[in-house]
Amino acid sequence: MTATAQTADEGGTAPRLAPMPQEWTRALAVVAHPDDLEYGASSAVAEWTADGKEVVYVLATRGEAGIDTMEPGEAARVREAEQRASAAAVGVSEVEFLGHRDGVLEEGPALRRDIAAAIRRHRPELVVTINHRETWGDAPGSPWNTPDHRVLGRSVLDAVGDAGNRWIFTDQLEQDGVLPWDGVRWVAVAASPAVTHAVEVGEEAVRKGLASLLEHRAYIEALTDEDPETYARGIVLGGLDRYARLNGGRRSVAFELFPC
Ligand SMILES: [Zn+2]
Repeated sequence: MTATAQTADEGGTAPRLAPMPQEWTRALAVVAHPDDLEYGASSAVAEWTADGKEVVYVLATRGEAGIDTMEPGEAARVREAEQRASAAAVGVSEVEFLGHRDGVLEEGPALRRDIAAAIRRHRPELVVTINHRETWGDAPGSPWNTPDHRVLGRSVLDAVGDAGNRWIFTDQLEQDGVLPWDGVRWVAVAASPAVTHAVEVGEEAVRKGLASLLEHRAYIEALTDEDPETYARGIVLGGLDRYARLNGGRRSVAFELFPC
């Protein structure tokens, strides 16, 4: 993920975003690629885990098509390791990879089935994903989002319903011993152009968020000639400060929240 969300009204500092709900204990973050959560959302994850909440990561792909100078087999190994270290930096110890092919995710029952299975296994109250919308910003001419993000985000929103329906993907219930789970109360979409809610982040969470992006070192070094620390600070602090303008001047991670 290389583009960042832009919001339309970035003028004053009055709070215009609602606080994210806090009445939950388990979250499942489902994204397309290693690094998707680290371009902003991971600072919120650091706040949540520091608060004793449990967060599990599920990656649809291993990001094998993400490094131009590295062949996919090696890139998958490197990026999986980087993602695990990145998760650990914000207090997440459980990271799963669904093994779908990077760059060509297809919207449909196959992807929804794997996401629904993860939701049924982990039984989260909050599901987090990244921008499913066509563009990163809401202004005309905003950068186009990538196909994997659009497909993945839409599939996550759909799979939450599937997970709660005992008559969908019934083989999981019969063979895998999982139960339907209709306990997801919200889906929070990070990097959306239509943010509604915010998580205020303190210095420690910002530090961990920066560290989590820096764990994707091979990816960043292939992406830019900029010093990795400088690059990471620009991305993470730039995003948090942009959302601060929508949240009373307080550094924040913002989400588009869908109640379920
Ligand atoms: Zn991505």
